[in-house]
Amino acid sequence: RRRWRRVVAVLEEFEEACATHVGRLRQVVDAMAVEMHAGLASEGGSKLKMLLTFVDALPNGYNKYIVTYYVHLLSEKGTYYALDLGGTNFRVLRVQLGGNSSDRSAILRHDVDRQAIPPHLMTSTSEDLFDFIASSLKQFVEREEGFSELSAVKRMELGFTFSFPVKQMSILSGILIKWTKGFAIEDMVGKDVSEPLQQAMSKIGLNMRVAAFVNDTVGTLALAHYHDEDTVAAVIIGTGTNACYLERADAIIKCQGLLTTSGCMVVNMEWGNFWSSHLPRTSYDVDLDANSPNPNDQGFEKMVSGMYLGEIVRRVILRMSEESDSLGSISSKLSAPFSLRTPLMAAMHEDDSPDLRKVARILNDDLEIPDVPLKVRKLIVKVCDVVTRRAARLAAAGIVGILKKIGRDGSGGVTSGRTKGLSKVRRTVVAVEGGLYTNYSMFREYLNEAVTEILGEEISPHVILRDTEDGSGIGAALLAAAYSSPN
Ligand code: ADP
Repeated sequence: RRRWRRVVAVLEEFEEACATHVGRLRQVVDAMAVEMHAGLASEGGSKLKMLLTFVDALPNGYNKYIVTYYVHLLSEKGTYYALDLGGTNFRVLRVQLGGNSSDRSAILRHDVDRQAIPPHLMTSTSEDLFDFIASSLKQFVEREEGFSELSAVKRMELGFTFSFPVKQMSILSGILIKWTKGFAIEDMVGKDVSEPLQQAMSKIGLNMRVAAFVNDTVGTLALAHYHDEDTVAAVIIGTGTNACYLERADAIIKCQGLLTTSGCMVVNMEWGNFWSSHLPRTSYDVDLDANSPNPNDQGFEKMVSGMYLGEIVRRVILRMSEESDSLGSISSKLSAPFSLRTPLMAAMHEDDSPDLRKVARILNDDLEIPDVPLKVRKLIVKVCDVVTRRAARLAAAGIVGILKKIGRDGSGGVTSGRTKGLSKVRRTVVAVEGGLYTNYSMFREYLNEAVTEILGEEISPHVILRDTEDGSGIGAALLAAAYSSPN
């Protein structure tokens, strides 16, 4: 009995430490907006890097810029490739564009090939990684184009999305600042990322050129903006998490005299590294961080993204089993870091069978904990709920933080106009992508709900979260088209 009470106490203590009532979320919103300002004011001014992307115009159906871009497209026959690298998977895409300038359905079709990145390549050398990617890309092109000679004759344009922090020199290239999400290829840090890809492609006779090198969030924003011009930001919540948004060039103070055609530039926030004392941090987060390859780094990501949620749950279950024998003896699986993957944790969370059969099966099969009593299984579901709810609500606060920075949260911020005491509320779309948001419905519901809760009834109907699939890749192909030179 006493032991049971101790297990319940572990949960209660954890739940309390994870509390994200709306007051606390508003503090996180404010902190996000403040850090965004600081990161734009000076290099190193914040944990938020607020990186320039050199994407100063986003595709859409109407503006003049895009009309010329379609004329260009038609003369290029409109086939573009994209490579999306950065998590557990990489994707290669072929996007066909066509139609006339007033036709919004100008993306005629796209084909995708998704592959897992062999884990050993994540910690190998850049040559190994890019040789593998270039050859996958070549096979994909040959399969799609029908015959192999074509790839040697006509130069193809590639949009390359890369979801790690990069200091861009231009739309074509950038230097890797650091790795995240378990990648560790030392010879790439501080070096240009598109060059070794370009080399690997030439080595195997693939006549393809990197025409746009962008963060994956930027690809997502490009596609979402193409479909809906009110899109101002894009957020990715998959293995890792990040966001970008459209900023006024004159607000990018650290880069005085930045010239852009549109007066705006997309800023890659690298929000995974956001930190604030208002974030509800527990002892499990502290331990997870201390045992990670990148301690004191990516603090927000470690509370929010798919790479870590299952691991936090595992740590809490381990603690529970140390307190009580109702979980049996501690299995080696349960003690092994990252043995509970987030999709399995989601499956436990969403088990709607009355006897929690799936939970029992996952505990048995994947964590080697047999015969867990129903009442303990219920506690474990609750642990999953606490972890996911916190993650989703913090991501929601981050999104509202961006809206606050650009004056779209209805609080009458810097750029929103006020007429006779009434603030103008503009329709605002935020694109959201990534496996955690798209595949995990409880996460999505908690996130959507929290955005509404923070913004309030009056403003929230004007803010739309739109999920996109393969948006980052298709968007990168659009950017490759927009930024490729005609010769
Ligand atoms: P990337 O690895 O490029 O971020 P995704 O955006 O597809 O790719 O995200 C994959 C991540 O999403 C996985 O690492 C996992 O954490 C999470 N995920 C995928 N499917 C599910 C699911 N059904 N439930 C919960 N999380 C999921």
